[in-house]
Amino acid sequence: MRRLLLLLLLILAGAAGLWWQRAPLGEALYGRLAESRAGRNALASYGDGLTLVFCGTGSPVPDPNRAEACLAVKAGNTLLLIDAGDGGVRKLAGLGVALDGLDGVLLTHLHSDHIEGLAPALLLRWAGGAATTPLPLIGPPGTSDVAAGYNLMLKADAGYRIAHHGTAIVPPGGGQFAGQDMAPGVVWNRDGLVITAFAVNHAPVAPAYGYRISYKDRTVVVSGDTAATPAMALAARGADVLVHEALQPRLVAAITRGLRAANQPRTAQITRDILTYHATPEQAATAAAQAGVQMLMLTHIVPQVPNRFFEAAFLGDAPQRFSGPIRMARDGTVLHLPAGNREIVEKAL
Ligand SMILES: [Zn+2]
Ligand SMILES: [Zn+2]
Repeated sequence: MRRLLLLLLLILAGAAGLWWQRAPLGEALYGRLAESRAGRNALASYGDGLTLVFCGTGSPVPDPNRAEACLAVKAGNTLLLIDAGDGGVRKLAGLGVALDGLDGVLLTHLHSDHIEGLAPALLLRWAGGAATTPLPLIGPPGTSDVAAGYNLMLKADAGYRIAHHGTAIVPPGGGQFAGQDMAPGVVWNRDGLVITAFAVNHAPVAPAYGYRISYKDRTVVVSGDTAATPAMALAARGADVLVHEALQPRLVAAITRGLRAANQPRTAQITRDILTYHATPEQAATAAAQAGVQMLMLTHIVPQVPNRFFEAAFLGDAPQRFSGPIRMARDGTVLHLPAGNREIVEKAL
């Protein structure tokens, strides 16, 4: 008994000593971690193929666990973003994905939850890679206005950065966007990566695009925001993965009831309005089955799903409609499709 007490006292004294010395210990530990981690690229170990990093899997509905729409696509040496909603790019960089080699940003449409996080993409590429040319911003008509707006907003900031760091670190040409308004069709064709835009149904947002992304016989189709449309199964035919937005109306209806009970009829009306231009998990599953894809990955999750327990309620009858794997993307989910085989590797950053 006495020995046990002595041991307990020793442990307590040790813990107190560690706490007492937390400043020097913390500094030493931080130094070791920072030296090994700073500047690392989380995607460096992935081989050739098509790699997706889900950097934002949420919607305009505030959700502490999900940034707004953001998807990084790496194919060979090409790195692109599809949409950059609030928090997405910051999350991507925080997960250790280097953005100094960012080649461009593709927008599915111009809703704020897909464009309001663009500024960090510009800055991280510019300062990280000493970019000398504007960052291509490609999307439906109106995209060049978004680019011009950002360039105006960041004009003063760009001047400060150049004055502070010098033109060798931040060359003047790299601190802005070059907007390109594109019609449906091939919008990117370089180094084996081919991306085709197709029109989806997100009325009154028009045009709104989905993208078919192909690299070395691997294909991913990204729905963008859309209600159920026959265009999806057509565009996704034979693809490996369909990345589809999803809204579960039965769960949204509960929020509508809550808002009405809380005497917030206008917000309640918005939760009814959004039903018309998004697709349900069941409709996404039907499109996946019709297209014959290997895997369905749901993103742009509405409403918030607190944890995995609620995923079955969110999916509803989707598993009855599509026999392949149906996954719900989280911020940090990675899908790697190696070149040369049919494998799909899922990981988390
Ligand atoms: Zn939208
Ligand atoms: Zn959206």
